[in-house]
Amino acid sequence: MNPKRILVVGAGHVGLYAALRLSKKLSSREAEVVVVDPQPHMTYQPFLPEAAAGNISPRHSVVPLRRELRKCKVVAGAVTRIDHSRKTAVVQPISGPTREIPYDHVVVAPGSVSRTLPIPGLHEHGIGFKTIGEAIYLRNHVLDRLDVAAATPDPDVRRSALTFTFVGGGYAGIEALAEMEDMARDALRYYPELEPDDMRWVLVEATQRVLPEVDRDMGAYTVQQLLKRNMDIRLDTRLESCVDGVVKLSDGDSFRSDTIVWTAGVKPSPMLDRTDFPRDERRRVTCLPTLQVVDGDRVVEGAWSAGDCAAVPDLTKEPGNYCSPSAQHAVRQAARMADNIALVVRGRPPVDYKHKHAGSVASLGLHKGVAQVYGIKMTGWPAWFMHRTYHMSRIPSFNRKVRVVVDWSLAFFLKREVVALGQLHDPREEFAEASQPIPITSRAA
Ligand SMILES: Cc1cc2nc3c(=O)[nH]c(=O)nc-3n(C[C@H](O)[C@H](O)[C@H](O)COP(=O)(O)OP(=O)(O)OC[C@H]3O[C@@H](n4cnc5c(N)ncnc54)[C@H](O)[C@@H]3O)c2cc1C
Repeated sequence: MNPKRILVVGAGHVGLYAALRLSKKLSSREAEVVVVDPQPHMTYQPFLPEAAAGNISPRHSVVPLRRELRKCKVVAGAVTRIDHSRKTAVVQPISGPTREIPYDHVVVAPGSVSRTLPIPGLHEHGIGFKTIGEAIYLRNHVLDRLDVAAATPDPDVRRSALTFTFVGGGYAGIEALAEMEDMARDALRYYPELEPDDMRWVLVEATQRVLPEVDRDMGAYTVQQLLKRNMDIRLDTRLESCVDGVVKLSDGDSFRSDTIVWTAGVKPSPMLDRTDFPRDERRRVTCLPTLQVVDGDRVVEGAWSAGDCAAVPDLTKEPGNYCSPSAQHAVRQAARMADNIALVVRGRPPVDYKHKHAGSVASLGLHKGVAQVYGIKMTGWPAWFMHRTYHMSRIPSFNRKVRVVVDWSLAFFLKREVVALGQLHDPREEFAEASQPIPITSRAA
C-alpha cells in the first residue's frame, strides 16, 4: 500500500503535538507527515509573559520544529489556499515560487490572530501579544521607555514614556500587564532618576470583570491585587481611539501613552477564508467531536481541525457549547486527532474528544498568581508555583523543560536581566552609517 500523505497546516500547539504523535503511531509505510509553518519553531504561548519579563530566555519558550519533528517533513512556508475538493494545498515557501502539495488527510491548525476593531490609531500605535517577536519587542520597548524617561528633561515626554496601556483583561492581557509591571518595577532599582509612582500602568477592559476563565471572586481578587500595585484598572471601559499615541477612553478620560498593547481576544486565522471548509458564524472550521470537519451533517472526509481555529463541541457541557480557545484543549485535541487519523487510516472508526476544562492558572509577576483548577482556588505564591510547575510540565520536550528550569534558577540566584536590546530591531543602523560612501570633496580635504 502507498503511504498516505498527512498534511499538517501550522505547527503550533495542535500541529506540533499532532505531527509528533502521528509520526510515532504510524509507520513510514503507512503515512508520510508533512508539516508546513512559516516559523521554524512552535511558540509555547503561555510562556510569552515570562519571556517578555526576562524570567525565561525567549529562545527557550519556543520549540525548534526540525529538532522535534525528525520523522516528519518540515516545509518552511505558509499555506495560502486549500482546495479540499481536490485535496490540494498551495504553499508559499519563505523563499521562491508557490507550490501545490496534494494530500490524503489535512490537519487544519493555523490557530488564531488578534481580533482587532477599527479603532483610529490602533493600527499605527498598537501591538499584539501573541508571538515571540511581539514579546521580545515589548520587553525592549518597556525598558527603553524607562531610559527615555530617565534621560528627558521634558515632563510630558516622561509621562508619556512611563504610561503603559493594555487593552483586554483575559489571561493573555492580565499576565502580560502584571509581568511587565513587575519587571519594570524591578528595573527601577537601577534608575535613581525614577520612582515607582512615576509609572502608570492602565488596564482597559470592556466588560465588568477580568479573567473570564475563572470564577468572579478570583477575577475580583486579581483586580484587587493589581490595584494594590497602584495600577489603573478601568472596567466597563472601551478604547475609543489612540491617534498619535493619545489614548481616548469611553469614560471620557484621555492621556498620552507610548505603549498600547492590544490583548482583546482572538479570531480564527484569516487564511481559512481561502479554503473551502465549512465555517460557523465566528468563522471557525466546524468540527465533530471526533475532530473531523463537518458540513451540516456530512463528514468532510480527510479533513481534520482543532485548536483556536476550530469549533469543537464540548461534550462535557450542554449541546451548543464549544471548547474554549486554550492550550489546554489544543494539546489534548491534537492527541485525540492524531489517534483518530491513525484509526481511520487503519480502517477503524474515530473516537470522540471529551475533556472537562480543568481551570486556569495565571501568573501576576514573580511569586504572585491566581489559579482555579478542578474547582480548587489558589492565590499568591501557591498559585504562582502551580502556574510554573504546570507549564513546565506542558512545554514540549525534555530539552526545553531543562532550559526553562535553568533560566528560572539563574534568575532566582542572579536576579533577572533588565537590559533593553533595542538594537535588535534595527541591527543594520550603525553599519549602514559607517559604510556610507564618503563624498569626493571630503576625501580630498
Ligand atoms: C500570551 C498568551 C498566553 C496564553 N496562556 C495560556 C494559558 O495559560 N493556558 C492556556 O490553556 N492557553 C493559553 N493561551 C492560549 C493558547 O496558547 C492557544 O489557545 C493555543 O496556542 C492554540 O493552539 P493552536 O495550535 O490552535 O494555535 P497556535 O499555537 O497559535 O499555532 C498556530 C500555528 O500555525 C502557524 N500558521 C499560521 N498561519 C499559517 C499558515 N497560513 N500556514 C502555515 N502555518 C500557519 C503559526 O505560525 C503557528 O505556529 C495563551 C495565549 C497567549 C497569546
